[in-house]
Amino acid sequence: MDVTPGGQTQILERAGTGVRPAALDVSVVIPVHNEKDTLPALHQRLTRVLRGLDVTYEILFVNDGSTDGSGEVLASLCPNDPKTRVIELRKNFGKATALSSGFWHARGQAIVTMDADLQEDPEEIPRFLERLRQGYDLVVGWRFPRQDTFSKRVQSWIYNRLASLVSGTSLHDMNCGFKAYRREVVQTVRLYGELHRYIPILAQQYGFRIDELTIRHHPRQFGKSKYSFHTRWPGVLDLVTVVFITRFDRKPLHLLGGVGLAWFGAGFLICLYLSWLSLFGGQFIRNRPLLLLGVMLMMLGLQLFFFGLLAEMFIHYHHRNDEGYIRTILETPQAPGEGEP
Ligand code: UDP
Ligand code: MG
Repeated sequence: MDVTPGGQTQILERAGTGVRPAALDVSVVIPVHNEKDTLPALHQRLTRVLRGLDVTYEILFVNDGSTDGSGEVLASLCPNDPKTRVIELRKNFGKATALSSGFWHARGQAIVTMDADLQEDPEEIPRFLERLRQGYDLVVGWRFPRQDTFSKRVQSWIYNRLASLVSGTSLHDMNCGFKAYRREVVQTVRLYGELHRYIPILAQQYGFRIDELTIRHHPRQFGKSKYSFHTRWPGVLDLVTVVFITRFDRKPLHLLGGVGLAWFGAGFLICLYLSWLSLFGGQFIRNRPLLLLGVMLMMLGLQLFFFGLLAEMFIHYHHRNDEGYIRTILETPQAPGEGEP
């Protein structure tokens, strides 16, 4: 099954994004941290769904440093099923790293991610693939109605509203683990730390077309959620990172230089005023706190400005022209013998 609209596979693969060609139609990538009880049922349901589709597929579990025996359960699934692969991380690195390891090794033209806890139904995968086929690059699940604790629902609501506000996306459930990606998306977006929460914002930066799909959600049957309030709130800091890298990563001087110049200007005006008082008013200014503020603003402003310039130099030396901006290149293949002498 071709998930690209109008069968444009070949064109997309040559689209200058550094995209490695896909060997399969679909990869399902599942990050796993201490989920031993759901894994056999998840594997069975996934296999049933994927076999029912007219696709070549693989199921790729990423064991993110589980300590509950999930590794052994996954190892027992593999020998019976050549379509299942398991990536074992050395320790628990977090979901973003688990996903990016899975993305790196996935061979599918479409890549579906879902959590391992069976709070979502693998039977919804065909609906996600259908949306990709309609031309979307990223399809984000919206768990509705959400079957989590009240506090988690409130946190999630605040987080989604905040993220939408600062990024301009209108998604309801950005952090939903159930998503489907066209291959170029996962090879373009860089994931580390806890940035998996903001994949749609990172993808939007490159102009990928994003859609949302309502999915059924179930309460967690086994194990515990890996995220609580104290593990979630640093996500606000990640949002600052995401806003900075999506808005200013190619023009850091616009932010740092702008703020730096404003501070420098304010400090300069203060010092000018004090100099005038001293020179023409005969006032004693050495003991005035305003002098300290003026000098500090000028120095900090200059520093910020030069940080901005350094950041620009860094980008200048690391910028590559093939960083995933291109959707397609339309060109007519030349017949053999034609073209330049
Ligand atoms: N997970 C992971 N590494 C971690 C934490 C979580 O791979 O460090 C996986 C976890 O096994 C699950 C998914 O990420 O498959 C989502 O975790 P969880 O269900 O605990 O999150 P929640 O649904 O409660 O937000
Ligand atoms: Mg869950």
